[in-house]
Amino acid sequence: MKLPSQPRNAFSIARQADDVFTIGKPAARNGKIADAAARRETDQRLTEALEFAESIIAVIPDILFEMDPNGRYLQVWTKHPETLAATEQQLLGKTINEMLPPEEAAAALRAIREADEKGASGGHTIRIPQQNGEPRWFEHYVAKRPGNKPSPKTFLMLSRDITERKHAEQVSDEARTQLLTVLQTIPDMVWLKDIDGVYLLCNHSFERLVGKLESEIVGKTDFDLFGADVARFFREKDLAAIRAGGVLVNEEWVTRADSGEHILLETRKVGMIGAEGKTTGVLGVGRDITELNASREKIHRMAFFDSLTSLPNRALFYERLGQLIAGTLPPYQLGAVMMIDLDHFKTVNDTMGHPVGDDLLFQAARRLQEGVRENDTVARLGGDEFAVLLPGIRHGEELANIANKFLETFNEPFILNGKEVFVSCSIGVACYPDDSTDANDLMKYADSAMYSAKRSGRGNFRFYSKELTASAKNRLLLESELRRAIERGELEVHYQPKVLLGSGIMTGSEALLRWRHREMGMVPPATFIPIAEETGLIVDLGRWVLREACETAAELNANGQPSHKVAINFSSKQFQRPDLVAMVAEILAETVCRPAWIEIEITESLLLDEKNETLATLSTLRTMGISIAIDDFGTGYSALSYLARFPIDTLKIDRSFINSDDERSAELVKAILSIARCLGQSVIAEGVETVEQAAFLAANGCNAAQGFLFSKPVPKREILKLPQYLNVSVRSAI
Ligand code: C2E
Ligand code: CA
Ligand code: CA
Repeated sequence: MKLPSQPRNAFSIARQADDVFTIGKPAARNGKIADAAARRETDQRLTEALEFAESIIAVIPDILFEMDPNGRYLQVWTKHPETLAATEQQLLGKTINEMLPPEEAAAALRAIREADEKGASGGHTIRIPQQNGEPRWFEHYVAKRPGNKPSPKTFLMLSRDITERKHAEQVSDEARTQLLTVLQTIPDMVWLKDIDGVYLLCNHSFERLVGKLESEIVGKTDFDLFGADVARFFREKDLAAIRAGGVLVNEEWVTRADSGEHILLETRKVGMIGAEGKTTGVLGVGRDITELNASREKIHRMAFFDSLTSLPNRALFYERLGQLIAGTLPPYQLGAVMMIDLDHFKTVNDTMGHPVGDDLLFQAARRLQEGVRENDTVARLGGDEFAVLLPGIRHGEELANIANKFLETFNEPFILNGKEVFVSCSIGVACYPDDSTDANDLMKYADSAMYSAKRSGRGNFRFYSKELTASAKNRLLLESELRRAIERGELEVHYQPKVLLGSGIMTGSEALLRWRHREMGMVPPATFIPIAEETGLIVDLGRWVLREACETAAELNANGQPSHKVAINFSSKQFQRPDLVAMVAEILAETVCRPAWIEIEITESLLLDEKNETLATLSTLRTMGISIAIDDFGTGYSALSYLARFPIDTLKIDRSFINSDDERSAELVKAILSIARCLGQSVIAEGVETVEQAAFLAANGCNAAQGFLFSKPVPKREILKLPQYLNVSVRSAI
């Protein structure tokens, strides 16, 4: 682009060029030729300098003025004359004061004065109306015109058009103001934090939530504003939003600072990306969805809960049943569906009226609800029909117990309209996965079992499978009979001798419980001991056996007879009682039995728990002088580490290894014997039935045994009469 080639401009530059561009010393006047040559050279340089100055002016987009100290326009150079406040002709010779609005003129004159004092002024911005009336923005830099002449002093003013930039700034300022206005009016909470979690801005809603003004919030972090736990939670979510690289939606319960109420916020957080593509902070928007949540829950309640009883309805019951079937129950666990129907509900409803019927349903629902565990679901399917979903059941008897408990709670009368009314219920049970793995089938089967319970006389329960019904009923019967066995005197203790293999000498015996039922006859321990253990009855039974055994031990050891140690079986359940040691000590004292006359037989499973309490109890018993034997040794998990840790005197090799044709059993017996030798424990073999077995044991270093070969368990009066040497023929055989 060329500078407008008015002669005035060119002349003006030329006129002053010697001020600007005369450099070096004046040439010496030594001869005309030299003079002429020097002058040519100077002219040449001058021309070049002028061209250079012209080209500079040509390339800069700015306007350049020359002014006197009063702000009078002396010269102007511009490629865009249209950006001038007036035409060049109008400008030249006028002063700034005449051409510009007073404020702008004053600013320009200040800049000239500054340049006069310091040589140059800093930039300043002025707004100048154009010839067409539109304002334009300029940035002015003023410098004193270089040169040696003291006067006339002039100034160069570079005027840069920054209108475009100003417009852009204005637009963005306006947008920002509008945005902030919007932020302040919306009910949502908005906040912006930098990458370190420091608040940069927030709106009124957020101020109200926090109970602080924006000025008190900006510059702080959540740790300054909230409790440490809440702050840590917010920080984690912020970082998660940054990592996620998108909007992260969350629901958070918070407490309002202004009202103290708990509200549910739905927050949306998104990482802010700066100019260089780096995350610079996190923008958060929070919406109070407390009401929304309440109506959401209400809809859920209406869809999934029965309005009369507040119990889950059929839909929710099916959903949970579906979850139970789809879920992975441990393989040893059952699930069950119980269908419960009130007997004669129709009669109550018809004779006492519907409101009373509703009251009955309400009360029945409460009773059912109270009888279940946390994970069970009691639902009202409709009418007087209820269903219970029971996950994590171990065996049918457990279900029978639960069903029985329900039946019992219905034994109590209902108070309806101030009157006592007896209403029983009938229960049908179907088991998952035994009866079916299909939800509809399970419901159908439980229903048909329930009808069969009703037919059999109401106030009853039935399993879908007949066998389960029978065994569960039998078990329940045994349980209730066993509860009365002690007081009815149906229990007795038998004693099975323990002998030394080498001599046949009887050194002790094992106390074994016997139950002689009035009608059922002898009930084997294998049948009733597990029931006693599950129901906790074993604690009472165990105490009773211990007293009996101690009494017998005292009699067997009386009057200087050879010592006889009576072994008593203790269940793990008994070790769960904190008063076990006290109970043993009390019985020993009562029966005048010395601790050395008894031994306690425990099973490996007790030790596998590795409980410190068990260790402490065993150690105390041992310190009292009671010896400890491990029963059924080898059948448990045999984590041999416990053998050294617990105070154990004797290992009792399980019957199954003695009575076995398997080669490996023989090897195992040998191994047990050598382990015991190493640990200094004695060994006794149980269930020895043949001379061969006894011979094998003796040959391998086992010197004590118990079994039918020597004697069956016998009643107390018989053990008291037994001779000291048993089965001498065995002795000769080995
Ligand atoms: P256990 O402690 O292993 O008792 C030994 C069982 O083996 C006894 O069965 C005994 O009669 C039987 N037995 C003894 N010698 C032989 C033999 O040569 N061959 C065969 N085949 N069997 C033999 P019982 O009396 O039926 O007791 C069964 C289980 O009941 C006992 O096993 C014990 O675990 C438990 N038990 C018995 N009485 C009590 C008790 O008072 N308290 C506790 N907690 N459990 C008891
Ligand atoms: Ca035993
Ligand atoms: Ca045993």
